[in-house]
Amino acid sequence: MLIEKNFDLTRFTTFRIGGQAEFFMIVKNRSELVKAAVWAQSKKLPLAILAGGSNILIVRKKIKGLVLKISGQHYVIRKNYLISWAGTSLTKLAKIAAEAGLAGLEWSFGLPGSAGGAVRGNAGAYGLDMSSVVAEAEAYDLTKNKLIKLDNQSCGFSYRDSIFKKRKNLLIVGVRLKLTKGAPGPIKALSQKNFNHRFASNPKGPSAGCVFKNLQYKKIIRQNKKLAVDLAAKGLVRGDKISAGYLIDQLGFKGKTVGGAKVSEQHANFIINTGQAQAKDVISLINLIKRKVKHKYKISLQEEIQYF
Ligand SMILES: Cc1cc2nc3c(=O)[nH]c(=O)nc-3n(C[C@H](O)[C@H](O)[C@H](O)COP(=O)(O)OP(=O)(O)OC[C@H]3O[C@@H](n4cnc5c(N)ncnc54)[C@H](O)[C@@H]3O)c2cc1C
Repeated sequence: MLIEKNFDLTRFTTFRIGGQAEFFMIVKNRSELVKAAVWAQSKKLPLAILAGGSNILIVRKKIKGLVLKISGQHYVIRKNYLISWAGTSLTKLAKIAAEAGLAGLEWSFGLPGSAGGAVRGNAGAYGLDMSSVVAEAEAYDLTKNKLIKLDNQSCGFSYRDSIFKKRKNLLIVGVRLKLTKGAPGPIKALSQKNFNHRFASNPKGPSAGCVFKNLQYKKIIRQNKKLAVDLAAKGLVRGDKISAGYLIDQLGFKGKTVGGAKVSEQHANFIINTGQAQAKDVISLINLIKRKVKHKYKISLQEEIQYF
């Protein structure tokens, strides 16, 4: 395992906005991850995990300590369970599952990032998310220096959230997905349909996906009843969610730029790096959107992207 110093992370993020890690290591399996974590602890270095880099904005020019890039694809199928290393791409798992005639991951085909990153953020699409398939997650507990297993309930999943966002001492090393036996044909067809829809609706260009979480109808009812009722009447409440992108679009943000960062003209919840965007450009745009949304609708948007 090679330890790099002052390593530029730009190319490991889908936003293509970097920062320099004081120390950097690529780990390809559980034992390498544990070794690297123990090394960082022995040197009293702060530790941060970077996986697919598809949900982060690196906010610092210099990052102190060790950044661990999780890589490598390992998985095994046992009956209707798909057991995977945290680094395997979620799309790869969706493809493997479909080919094996295992249903449950069709929604995720084409979703960027790793299995571990998806568990942490309870990634989801088309009305489903990781909580619907995770039987168990395995994590390395940095405080106890041991591997632990958490069943679905212990993962504390909720909308784009899990216990792993609160307990930073837990590094996800693997996941056991419980899928359902089915015929490969229809599973592949649904996966491909979702992929095609994603390809057509996701803006092109470097981004980190949706910047803000969609809004939960029951919360909006409490914060701004009139808005909630208006949106419901217009048929804009889908599965208990109101699209943050819709509200941002209503405020005329599409195409708005700050420095090299631009609100996508195709999807107002995406910020695109037009080439030379810096983290401060993205943050200014985020803060501007949050202020205007608060002022106009009396509601607070919450970031889905993670500040790294
Ligand atoms: C074009 C595009 C479309 C997207 N569409 C969707 C979508 O439809 N639905 C959706 O939910 N998301 C979407 N996203 C966001 C992103 O793909 C998901 O959030 C994804 O699950 C992130 O995984 P990752 O491996 O890239 O995590 P990273 O971005 O590498 O990391 C995200 C956070 O998780 C932490 N982390 C990562 N791995 C581990 C681990 N093993 N243990 C502990 N912490 C870890 C990191 O430290 C970081 O804080 C999209 C992104 C893009 C660029």
